[in-house]
Amino acid sequence: MARQFLEMPNNNGYFGEYGGQIIPPELKTIMDDINDAYEKVSQTEEFQKELNELYTDYVGRPSPIYHARRLSDKLGGARIFLKREDLNHTGAHKINHCLGEALLARHMGKTKVLAETGAGQHGVALATACALLGIDCEIHMGEIDIEKEHPNVTKMKILGCKLVPVSRGTRTLKDAVDSAFEEYLKDPVNFFYAIGSVVGPHPFPKMVRDFQKIVGYEAREQFLAKENALPDVVMACVGGGSNAIGIFTAFLEDEDVRLIGVEPAGKGLDTPDHAATLTLGTKGALHGFECYNLQDKDGTPLPVHSIASGLDYPGVGPQHCYLKDIERVSYQTIDDQECLDAFMTLSRMEGIIPALESAHAVAYAMKLAQTMSPQETILINLSGRGDKDADFVADRLSL
Ligand SMILES: *Cc1c(COP(=O)(O)O)cnc(C)c1O
Repeated sequence: MARQFLEMPNNNGYFGEYGGQIIPPELKTIMDDINDAYEKVSQTEEFQKELNELYTDYVGRPSPIYHARRLSDKLGGARIFLKREDLNHTGAHKINHCLGEALLARHMGKTKVLAETGAGQHGVALATACALLGIDCEIHMGEIDIEKEHPNVTKMKILGCKLVPVSRGTRTLKDAVDSAFEEYLKDPVNFFYAIGSVVGPHPFPKMVRDFQKIVGYEAREQFLAKENALPDVVMACVGGGSNAIGIFTAFLEDEDVRLIGVEPAGKGLDTPDHAATLTLGTKGALHGFECYNLQDKDGTPLPVHSIASGLDYPGVGPQHCYLKDIERVSYQTIDDQECLDAFMTLSRMEGIIPALESAHAVAYAMKLAQTMSPQETILINLSGRGDKDADFVADRLSL
């Protein structure tokens, strides 16, 4: 299953013309070491057993599949199902790859794990994994995001990681990446940069996908057991693309299953305030790899916006770029207002408060479901829960 796609990337880290290692030669040696260690360690029974036990006993996998009946009935079209990654320990899918990366860092004898965070979800998930495995952890975060995502900031402090506020540029995710990367370059031999999505230089897009693909394999099996058929549509929101590739991978070779990635249109595709990278981006290099990205004429990344901090990134995973070009996945957009509406609708129809990121996928599913019949089904990767966003939304809507 999905073999053709799992054999990607090639040895140089390319998915078609995307990915690779657009980095200085010293760093290339380090990335190649990580790749070698990953290829060796991840095949061992010891590593697989440890990771699988953590997925089961620590994260709470498998996450359930839930038929959102009231929501589906209200819309009167396709039946909507949710893959409940919001129920994972720490509240999102990110713990899946953070545990994998932290385990690998420990196997490689690294002294410190470093990362940036946007919504704070990657930071919390990584700080959690590092606390569990007893590794030093340092997280860089934009000041705007620090203000907006207060509960996650507090959690990271409690979990014992070193939090570095980033005051340069737009003070959001992109600048946090630059800041964390500078720190990493001080000692890349002993530090491990735990990338928070399927982005960055090879081997990260491959490794993070491999740690996330459990989501789709579980979902495929659960869905077959429940419905005796595969879903007609599988969808997920796309920031860097980890939760989307996580659920898509198991379905890539099921030609009858439509796959849809949902990007943030922010304040509108006709404004500069969006982060619809696959929809409006152009090919270029960013943060060490080739992908579609939102850049100016000189190749400088543009400031991007989404109501969901975790989707606020000017690049996107190389495998998504490839899947767009071969038209295996269709990429659509949802704006801030549609996202907020879906956030409230899912909360009030199902008693499930989604992350603003995940609400993008819910919003698109709500639109699409109405054009489909009740015999048809949509499976959404509900990538995270909305506790972190509750105060922000209540403020915005004056609740
Ligand atoms: C970080 C995050 C995302 C976006 O990241 P991807 O790599 O695109 O999955 C989506 N949902 C939630 C809940 C997140 O925390």
